[in-house]
Order: sequence, then C-alpha cells, then structure tokens
Amino acid sequence: MPWTGSPNTLSRGKTADGQKLQTKNGSKRQHTTSAADQLANQGVQKDEPDNIDLTVPEHFKAVGTRLLTLSQKQAYQAMKSKETKPYTWQTLSNLDITRHAIHDTTGNLETDATLWRSIRHPDIRRPIQAFLYRAMAGSLRIGDFWQKIPNYEQRAICMRCASNQLETLEHILIECDAPERTRIWRLAQNTWPDQNHDIFPKGIGHVLGCGNINSRQQGNRTPTAHERGFARLQRILISESAHLI
Ligand SMILES: [Zn+2]
Repeated sequence: MPWTGSPNTLSRGKTADGQKLQTKNGSKRQHTTSAADQLANQGVQKDEPDNIDLTVPEHFKAVGTRLLTLSQKQAYQAMKSKETKPYTWQTLSNLDITRHAIHDTTGNLETDATLWRSIRHPDIRRPIQAFLYRAMAGSLRIGDFWQKIPNYEQRAICMRCASNQLETLEHILIECDAPERTRIWRLAQNTWPDQNHDIFPKGIGHVLGCGNINSRQQGNRTPTAHERGFARLQRILISESAHLI
C-alpha cells in the first residue's frame, strides 16, 4: 500500500535539526522542531510511561500479494502449491481405461502424469486439448450429468440413435449409429495413407490417449522420419475426428 497522504515530519529541504535549506529555485523554507522538542522534554519528565496503542490500523494491514507487483510465475507457483482435490471415480476409471489401451498398443504402462501430459501434446490443437482434458476428468455435460437434474433426465439417453443407451463418451464416439459419427471416422480412414491399417479407435482409451501414440511401438530403436510422420498424422486424425463428432 503506498504511503501517500501519510503524515511525515521529515521531508526534503530541511536538515534533521530544523535548519533552513536552499532549494533549487532559491526560495527558503522555514521549519522548526521546537514543538517536538517541547513534547520530548515533557516525555522525559514523566514518571510513568504512556500506554501507547501499537496495534496496526485496519487500512494499513496488507494481506496477500499486491496484484500490481504479482508476476505470472508467482501466481502460477501459488496455484500449484494448493492442495489438489482427489480424483473422482470417473476420472480414475478414464485414466485406467486409457492406460490399458495405450499399453495394448505400445507396450508402455503410462503413469497418470504422463497421461495428463500427453493431452497437451503439441500436435493436438488447444481447443481439442481442453475437450480431451474435460473428457478425461469426466466433466463433460453428457449422460449421467443430466440424470441428476430434475426434468432433464431424458437428456441422459442418446437421441441420435435408437439404442436407448446412456449417452457416454464411449457411446458417442465409438458405438453410436448416428450417420455423422460413422461418416467422420470414414473420412479420417480415407485420409490415412495406409488402407491396410485401420485408424478407427477400438475404445475410448485410444481417443483419450491419442497423444501417447508414438513411433516407438517396435522397441526402443530410433524411429525413422517416416514412422514419426505416421504417428503424428494418427494423433491429429484421431483428436480432430473425436472433437468434430
Ligand atoms: Zn447413439
């Protein structure tokens, strides 16, 4: 908090003993400490010291950090230091489904941290990263989200097909008979250069973990540029198609 407006008996233009100082424009300022000296003398003469209130005034109590001086790094560190909430059962379930799907494909058993990090893969566009993050966290407004809201329960059931099934993300992206879903995946398959290899994801885990698709599936040898390109195209096709549906 700035100290502007606060009483301050020591100011520039005078010495500590109250003598006059010559200012830049030649004027002289009068100052005396006689009143202060008188008060000091009275204080020295007292037998009992005054009971001085040393509590800090409310408007001088600085709480937290000043926004004007807060850097982005400090704000980020403060947010990171806060205790994170435990995962919901849906988030845990999605993480495990994705972990096993990636394990079946690459042979690597990913940790929770690497699964979350793979969502931020630079090949995945920012809006799709946000979509995958919400899908993994189970915070999309689909299926059982609507079951808890009175008069909106019917929205929990898929309206795009006749299956009368709960509208889970697995159903929307993998199982539903809606023509737009099958068409989008067919277009993705047509874009894929190797028609002997099916790009269609086998489960929701392959979609949520598409950032973990890598070109090291055949061991730890250095992948060729061709293999890296295939892995990148697969990441882009799966993430874009899932988001489009
Ligand atoms: Zn459906």
